[in-house]
Amino acid sequence: MLSNSLVELDRAHLVHPVASYRGHERRGVRVLKSGSGATITDASGRRLIDGFAGLWCVNAGYGQNSIVEAATRQLRELPYATGYFGLGSEPAIRLAAELAERAPGDLNHVYFTLGGSDAVDSTVRFIRYYYNAKGLPQKDQFISIEQGYHGSSTVGAGLTALPAFHAGFGVPLDWQHKIPSHYAYRNPAGSDPQAIIAASLTALRGKVDELGADRVAAFYAEPIQGSGGVLVPPPGWMKAMRHLCSELDILFVADEVITGFGRTGPLFACSEDGVIPDLMTVAKGLTSGYAPMGAVLMSDDVYDTIADGAGASAVGHGYTYSAHPVSAAIGLEVLRLYEAGLLENGRKAGARLMEGLRSLSEHPLVGDVRGRGMLAAIELVVDKERKIPLPASADPSRRIFDRAWDNGLVIRAFGNGVLGYAPPLCCTHDEIDAIVERTRMTLDQTL
Ligand code: PLP
Repeated sequence: MLSNSLVELDRAHLVHPVASYRGHERRGVRVLKSGSGATITDASGRRLIDGFAGLWCVNAGYGQNSIVEAATRQLRELPYATGYFGLGSEPAIRLAAELAERAPGDLNHVYFTLGGSDAVDSTVRFIRYYYNAKGLPQKDQFISIEQGYHGSSTVGAGLTALPAFHAGFGVPLDWQHKIPSHYAYRNPAGSDPQAIIAASLTALRGKVDELGADRVAAFYAEPIQGSGGVLVPPPGWMKAMRHLCSELDILFVADEVITGFGRTGPLFACSEDGVIPDLMTVAKGLTSGYAPMGAVLMSDDVYDTIADGAGASAVGHGYTYSAHPVSAAIGLEVLRLYEAGLLENGRKAGARLMEGLRSLSEHPLVGDVRGRGMLAAIELVVDKERKIPLPASADPSRRIFDRAWDNGLVIRAFGNGVLGYAPPLCCTHDEIDAIVERTRMTLDQTL
């Protein structure tokens, strides 16, 4: 039984991330108690399929004993080691090496953070340092994409292009610029993949011309825009954008915080796209949410330029918990599980998920179904022909989230009537079918 006092304590003391504080106080918290595989259980004993893997992070699923054991071993042996003073721990060193071995191209240098936001934030610092080391301090303008999400740190929130992360915070900063998204369902260039790629190339070239190529530092892209509503670019889009960045002499940063670690099929979406970024950010699936950790992977050129530029001086960037040994031990075990079968299972489950969600296309509310692997969305409309979204005033997301919850399913209901899916890679076929069926039931109740 959920103790009322817990709800009251939450209301009085716990500030929740990305929430309407007053709305949350009114509704009260739903306390989660336990998890196993793809199922979570709340404090009242209700069992739900977690169709969103927490916050698209519990890729390995809940209750994986070998992860718990790896963490426990490390906690007993050495719960903390700093990377300052030339010190280090075995799991952090090994995890860096394992990631470098698997990452595309020469992304051989790994800087560990606590999550995705500070990984993105770190890239900005590394990139500024890089151009200063090259004697090009004027290259200080950053470009990202509308509907993109790159975290909510003070600087990263300005690379993010979702209005909720800007209002009241004084971002974007004047050196943070945007180009339109490739968003195929609502693209003024139409739905033809080549036209969408051409429009993005023209937009980036135009933005760089406007700012001056000698002033632009970097371009940021998610292989699939996650928080913007799971917007999947056409095949070849990432590669074309990467090539243009090389041509324009600006760094290409791939933000794989969501897409990494099997979410779209392979370990990194960039590998499937045939793209080698200059820097790559990861988090979430890196530890499968069992402990906080993110990372920035840097190419030889980026790392060596920074290292040579600093010479004998310290590069003044780092946290107490950079490369935390317990998170790293978890990361190593999670990586082993991915390669021992989770990636393979995720690929099969992802194909079934896409097939299942596509079968909902005929539903009167479903305007678009999109995704790749175990990352998908359906976009709801009130008028399919004219693609009219659900009215935001009626707060459809909250109601749909609540209905899905009552039907035993957790999904992400974005504010604009987009439903997001990112189930754990360990899902069985039955669980995938249940996700689809419970969605159908939820949509029928929403009509
Ligand atoms: N970058 C991307 C693409 C993300 O999706 C997220 C979080 O969802 C972040 C960065 C920020 O990561 P975190 O929430 O771990 O700070």
